Amino acid sequence: MGESLPTRRGVLAAAGAALAGGLARAAGVETAPAPRPKPGPPLVDSHFHLVDPRLPGTPDIAAPDEGVPLAPFPEGGERDGARRLARAIEATAAESGMVAALCMPRTEVSDRDPLGIKEIEAVAPLVRGVKLHPVGFANPERFDRDHLARVEAVLRQGRVKALKVYLGYLHYGPDHPGYRPYYALAAKYLVPVVFHTGDPYSRKAKVKFARPLPVDDVAVDFPDTRFVLAHFGNPWLADAAEVVYKNPNVWADLSGFLVGDREAFARYGKAGVLGRAADRVRAAIEFTGAPDRFLFGSDWPLAPVAVYRDFVRTLFPEEEHPAVFRDNARTLFGV
Ligand SMILES: [Zn+2]
Repeated sequence: MGESLPTRRGVLAAAGAALAGGLARAAGVETAPAPRPKPGPPLVDSHFHLVDPRLPGTPDIAAPDEGVPLAPFPEGGERDGARRLARAIEATAAESGMVAALCMPRTEVSDRDPLGIKEIEAVAPLVRGVKLHPVGFANPERFDRDHLARVEAVLRQGRVKALKVYLGYLHYGPDHPGYRPYYALAAKYLVPVVFHTGDPYSRKAKVKFARPLPVDDVAVDFPDTRFVLAHFGNPWLADAAEVVYKNPNVWADLSGFLVGDREAFARYGKAGVLGRAADRVRAAIEFTGAPDRFLFGSDWPLAPVAVYRDFVRTLFPEEEHPAVFRDNARTLFGV
């Protein structure tokens, strides 16, 4: 994305460990109070974090505004931490109309928690008015028969609505043999596989593994598995658009193009950054000719849900909003 969008990387570098918790303040930038967004029709957020995935080289992540840490919580603060996080999620839901979210997993698994979802399952019941659905971690280093049997046992229960592949953060491409059994299980249990694609938030990541084009290989090899390009491959939008256009089993989520708090988005708007980003993304969406395969996602806590929703609204004509903000996700994830 180079210099045309300095905001994403600049914000991350400036905020450091306080990521998204008062970003502009952490960066020492003058802030003007931005108007609070209005809640709209019910929406499903297809890309949400309530657990710090602990990817190599990424800073700790906190919820915006209140700076509430994500799970897992610091030693001794389990119950209090979970309650504060639940209130922060309710707040972002109240101002956005969010009624359900797909929650990305940790990268640590155990025999008892083979998909890295135990914190999501602990926090979800504390959040009122929002259905938080776990997404399980596809670990490319664990494709031994015992682990896959435990993964399958969890998938069979039906609570896990997708699998996540952290391309780039982990140095494996989508066609690595360690991932292929997960694609077969995903087809069997009708859960899509969500790939991180595009720019990663970590210098320890290797971007060649996060490019969207190689997803075409596995989309062809696993025609009964549905795949999602998270972040629509940004900045490789042309490649991502071609993969979506050509493969009817590939979707894309629109999360993470810009990150920051309410004030940061107000500044991006004033500076024309939002408009320029929207122009680039709209052209790629148009190329696919498949608005029914795009999903709203906020990447919360990297952006407030309502503020990011207002950006995504500018990418589609209004008649497509119910599909992009709700119905496409319901169809794809079965939520
Ligand atoms: Zn994410």
